[in-house]
Amino acid sequence: MTILAVNNVAKRFGKLAAVKGITLEIPEGQIRALIGPNGSGKTTMFHLISGFLRPTSGDIRFQGHSIKGKRPHQIAKRGLVRTFQLTSIYREMTVRENVTMGHHIHAGRRARPRPTLEKLPRFEAVEESTGWILDFMGLSDEAETTARLLPAGMQRVLSIATALAVRPTLLMLDEPLAGLNPTEKSDVAQKIASLRDHGITILLVEHDVRSVLSVCELITVIDFGEKIAEGTADEVTSNPAVIEAYLGKQSRHDA
Ligand code: ADP
Ligand code: MG
Repeated sequence: MTILAVNNVAKRFGKLAAVKGITLEIPEGQIRALIGPNGSGKTTMFHLISGFLRPTSGDIRFQGHSIKGKRPHQIAKRGLVRTFQLTSIYREMTVRENVTMGHHIHAGRRARPRPTLEKLPRFEAVEESTGWILDFMGLSDEAETTARLLPAGMQRVLSIATALAVRPTLLMLDEPLAGLNPTEKSDVAQKIASLRDHGITILLVEHDVRSVLSVCELITVIDFGEKIAEGTADEVTSNPAVIEAYLGKQSRHDA
């Protein structure tokens, strides 16, 4: 069954066509990567799907219902939850407090800088859920550690953990592996795979093709706001259009 259907979605910023009619379908239980060079429209796609931006045209369906024009917190409540490109954790809170806070439907967490733990509903249930998430994500030993003291890889795992608190059925991760060393990358990738094994569908955005190859079942490649390829890791990495998109950018970048 298709959990997310993006149909011919476009987004303009004034004169700039950032996304030019992208269609993609994600079956339930898949780990899908959306990759593309810098500026290709990946983050914009993320904002469109999660309701932070409204498409100029096209439609987006989640579990069969259109979510076009719905607000981020409404979409999150339905089970489509995202993380932000830069780790979205409260650096001065402990690991446990971060996951506890995640139980807020926190679409506007950046706009609300001072939420309070006391305002959380049903504290026992939240406490139990927090314990489960910490355990599942391998963060129990660090539960009382201040978030900023964690190594980068664990901070990334923590930001995924806070998103789990919203009970996603589809979890969108923006560059979850970026800036991590190889060991951290493989740790986080393993965590992502285990989420899928627990029935959570994953859509992740990455700039670097190589880091997603081992994790993802299907890869969608975009360039200049258009889909240029879709397939398995082998298909995508041997696709001339994909090679050109990346190498072309690289050589222009080096010049
Ligand atoms: P990626 O995440 O793939 O690096 P983005 O989705 O961030 O790419 O950006 C795609 C294009 O849209 C870029 O040219 C970027 O400069 C432009 N863009 C993104 N957000 C905005 C915005 N809010 N206003 C104007 N242009 C934007
Ligand atoms: Mg981006």
